[in-house]
Amino acid sequence: MEEEPFVHTTSDSTQLTTWLEISRRAYADNLQLIRHLVGEGVEIGAVVKANGYGHGLELVADLAAAHGAGSFCVHSLDEALRLRRAGHKQDILVLGQIMQRRLPEAIEAGLTLAMFDADGGRALAQACHQQPSIGQVKVHLKIETGTYRQGACDDELSRLVDILRGVPRVDIEGAYTHFANIEDTTQHDYAEQQRQRFGKALEQLKAMGVTPRKLHTACSAAALLFPETRFQMVRLGISQYGFWPSRETRLSFQLQDPESAAALQPVLTWKTRVGQVKWIPEGSYVGYGCSYQVTRRSRLAILPIGYSDGYDRQLSNRGHVLIRGRRAPIRGRICMNLTMVDVTDIPQVEPEDEVVLLGRQGDQEILAEDLAQLIGTIHYEVVARLSAELRRILVG
Ligand SMILES: *Cc1c(COP(=O)(O)O)cnc(C)c1O
Repeated sequence: MEEEPFVHTTSDSTQLTTWLEISRRAYADNLQLIRHLVGEGVEIGAVVKANGYGHGLELVADLAAAHGAGSFCVHSLDEALRLRRAGHKQDILVLGQIMQRRLPEAIEAGLTLAMFDADGGRALAQACHQQPSIGQVKVHLKIETGTYRQGACDDELSRLVDILRGVPRVDIEGAYTHFANIEDTTQHDYAEQQRQRFGKALEQLKAMGVTPRKLHTACSAAALLFPETRFQMVRLGISQYGFWPSRETRLSFQLQDPESAAALQPVLTWKTRVGQVKWIPEGSYVGYGCSYQVTRRSRLAILPIGYSDGYDRQLSNRGHVLIRGRRAPIRGRICMNLTMVDVTDIPQVEPEDEVVLLGRQGDQEILAEDLAQLIGTIHYEVVARLSAELRRILVG
């Protein structure tokens, strides 16, 4: 039996205790802004790994396809197969590792495969040999330029290309690389070095008689800041979801283009509802480990969400949620499925009131960047770790 993905494009939030709202309008505006920036000639490859950065793989893929993305990039074979099952016929580039024994499935599904070493090339050659009935297999060469994760360095690249050239059904359609230091700084000389190394590798390929038609190097930050990194395609991750890759990227962008009113809008709002509301006496301790003691008679709202939903436990006694347009502080430790907040100063709060954990309510907003800062990580991780079991509801 095939596993049903936990994705629901229509759902009645009045029946739910927690859910994610995905704004079609915000997504469309973000993609339009990026399209305007990169121009018509550059393919937008929507990066939808990690369950669409937590937004829901199938839901985001539908939005991406509807709003101008030409192809998809995923990490795993299983993500790619989910997109095929959802009916997407576009190119899907699998960036990550595929077990050798599953290459036949990848070929059968017409996926584009990242190739980053000679072993991978040999495995693919063997899989092609064993599956003679299936047509062309597109591959993209992942070139090492200084990030030192996946990627083929000079000699390895030659070995890989030698192997792939010997397999007539393999089409070396693309070549790409990934920048190491483009989000974390406003100094971009390392990125420039990487771009030059990429150019050298292309010359090396050309000398071997290989000229890939689809070159791509740009993640969001590069796509936003450096036209010369865009080539034929950009691999657009975080920015489609309405986040700047980093403060530095936003700053660099504004310095380059002070007139631009470019505004990315967060696509996702995470909501829950108040469960129980109760008064507790002055001096009471709240939650496991008695880590918070109230200094006055207090009114608590108990929320039916916790760290198993992806609400980081490090937000205990630190974070806030929004109820009735106001900030309510988290008291005590976040539990697996429950979180307590102080609503003494928001007297109207009642059970089943809507609560925003991430996003806007009234004129208040909690950004993924805010949560990231509180827990010592980046907003990428905050959204990527949203539980796959949360309902995703398309709005607007
Ligand atoms: C995740 C990823 C991207 C997308 O990066 P963003 O900063 O989210 O745009 C692009 N390329 C590769 C290889 C990636 O792994």
